[in-house]
Amino acid sequence: MAVVAEAPTVVDLRSDTVTRPTEAMYARMRVAPLGDDGLDADPTARALEETAAAMLGKAAGLFVPSCTMGNLLAILAQVQRSEQVLLETQAHMINTERGAATLTGAFLLGIPGADGAMDLERLGDALRPAASPLRTAMIALETSHNAAGGTVPPLAHMAAVADLARAHGIPVHLDGARLFNAATHLGVEPADLTRHVDTVSLCLSKGLSAPVGAVLAGSGPVIATARRLRKMIGGTQRQVGVVAAAGLEAITTMGARLAEDHDRARQLSDGLNALRPTLSANVPQTNIVQVDLARTRRDSERWVGDLEALGIRTRPLGERRLRLVTHRHITAGDVERTVAAFRTCLIAA
Ligand SMILES: *Cc1c(COP(=O)(O)O)cnc(C)c1O
Repeated sequence: MAVVAEAPTVVDLRSDTVTRPTEAMYARMRVAPLGDDGLDADPTARALEETAAAMLGKAAGLFVPSCTMGNLLAILAQVQRSEQVLLETQAHMINTERGAATLTGAFLLGIPGADGAMDLERLGDALRPAASPLRTAMIALETSHNAAGGTVPPLAHMAAVADLARAHGIPVHLDGARLFNAATHLGVEPADLTRHVDTVSLCLSKGLSAPVGAVLAGSGPVIATARRLRKMIGGTQRQVGVVAAAGLEAITTMGARLAEDHDRARQLSDGLNALRPTLSANVPQTNIVQVDLARTRRDSERWVGDLEALGIRTRPLGERRLRLVTHRHITAGDVERTVAAFRTCLIAA
């Protein structure tokens, strides 16, 4: 039975992190030049860092095991203890990571907003010196915004935040875990988004399909500091080119197909919205669909279980919502099957 449950017919919409490496990634991993990244540098990791930095319009890059570590290092390298970081209330760095606050001694203050974008007036208020006993040392943005359903704050918002930060002489960090999805939605290059920020972290292991890893990019001095700090927190690895090779393949070839994931998400949302008013879903800008279950008589945990029994894997988002993420392994047929499973569950209710 366990074998049947693990059969490839399962539609796994829990996250785009479930994507497997491509054949081209495996081929590249096999032949990647390797060195000791803790001693005298791994050449493939350096190639990834340079390539990513160039694509992101920054002087330097740093390969890190995860985007969480990239975000943590951005703060450790630029913010002192008892200083303050301002970011949108639902930001991943506040709600999911927490480490930035507990490990750095910095205070993370959430600024309410809409669709992942901070309210600029409130941001301006929070930046006034009289607003807090703590000095604000950084503003952090997130795009696409995970908790806001994969929304992409407009470029004008990023520019306005950059102007405010510059006026106060502080840096802007971008949690760009799904930066390539955001660029795809806007129809621009990743560097068109990152020119508004000083540092950016990019996840290689989500829709881009690398097995692990992320890149933090920024100015030469900040990345040099982050490289030293990475060693202190155990993020320096040895023949890391084995995985950096997959990351190189990911950033150079996998961004171009993300529009397909966005199309599937839209197809999924349209299918679910046909079940209104009992169910409804956001109209996704990228690859994240949030399903509102409030009008059904079951909570999200129960829905997850019922859908799982039909071969559809999802995750709860609080008690009344589900989160579905499309990615490279989700076909148009999988989307149809998913919508049919929701319909079956509603009829059975
Ligand atoms: C997934 C995610 C991260 C963390 O990425 P990991 O590589 O899993 O540590 C950070 N920020 C956002 C917005 C994310 O969606």
